[in-house]
Amino acid sequence: MNKKKIFSPKTLTEYHELYSKIENSKIIIFAGGTDLMVGKEELPEDAVFVSLSELEELKGIEKKGDTIIIGPSSTLNEILHSPVIQEELLILIQAIRTMASEQVRNRATIGGNIGNASPAGDTITPLVVLGASLTIFSPRTATERNISFSEYFCGPCANTLDNGELITKIIIPIPLKKMKCYFRKVGQRNAMTITKASLSCFAEIDNDEILDIRLAAGSVSPTVRRLIKTEEFLKHKTISERTVEEAKRILEKEISPITDIRSTKAFRELLTKNLLGDCLRSILLYEQ
Ligand SMILES: Cc1cc2nc3c(=O)[nH]c(=O)nc-3n(C[C@H](O)[C@H](O)[C@H](O)COP(=O)(O)OP(=O)(O)OC[C@H]3O[C@@H](n4cnc5c(N)ncnc54)[C@H](O)[C@@H]3O)c2cc1C
Repeated sequence: MNKKKIFSPKTLTEYHELYSKIENSKIIIFAGGTDLMVGKEELPEDAVFVSLSELEELKGIEKKGDTIIIGPSSTLNEILHSPVIQEELLILIQAIRTMASEQVRNRATIGGNIGNASPAGDTITPLVVLGASLTIFSPRTATERNISFSEYFCGPCANTLDNGELITKIIIPIPLKKMKCYFRKVGQRNAMTITKASLSCFAEIDNDEILDIRLAAGSVSPTVRRLIKTEEFLKHKTISERTVEEAKRILEKEISPITDIRSTKAFRELLTKNLLGDCLRSILLYEQ
């Protein structure tokens, strides 16, 4: 068996220096390693592994002004138990509660979930409706830049990061307290399950009228993005059964699920429409 080269830089400066020596290799970054371990991808012989476990700059959760900044190496359980996240980002708590198991959540990181860029990644739809953005570190130039999720994704399980680039911050604007949030995921069973379809929503309701709404569906399109047409239709409507049915018809045209080993296209379509109905009805119920 070939010996693998594994490096564990302690600072971003150290990673920048290391990069000049390994830039011509395929660089495999890992945080918790829970995805990498089970990956089926054949890795090139000269692959160089970079562990993020000792990079303190990528850890921690802090409130800064009207944003929350999450270090990508924060584990799912650290986020779940963070008082700041519990206070301000309930939708992320709702999503992470459905993910994996206690043991996996102790290792798995939010940066790894974003790093995969899977349309089934359960932290992705909440982050999209929250309007989160990412700070990216380029080891070649030792500089950082900010990008939105729409600039980050470029296909199913594909992102726009260059070889060796790192997510260093997840920046989340704190939502207004009056916004109602919704997250539901449907899988094969209740625990340890990969999403067949999921829906995240933020809505502001006044006297049964939807003043504002943000929607994103998981596992039903090549990349997760806002469902703009459905949102536009729902704005300034009151929620009636007629509105729900019309919204479902619009949503159906905005998603493009595929048939794979977990589900059929038709079933995913039906699930997502039903999730929208459940979301709109429960948002109205919370209001009463
Ligand atoms: C049993 C089991 C159950 C699971 N259940 C769920 C589930 O319910 N929902 C769900 O969404 N996922 C689930 N997963 C998938 C996985 O645990 C999550 O996606 C997790 O968040 C990955 O985090 P990690 O730190 O282990 O990633 P890693 O395996 O370390 O990395 C994953 C990818 O992200 C990249 N990456 C990591 N950190 C960075 C960074 N800072 N910058 C750039 N790229 C980075 C890596 O290069 C790699 O491509 C499950 C996995 C297992 C094994």
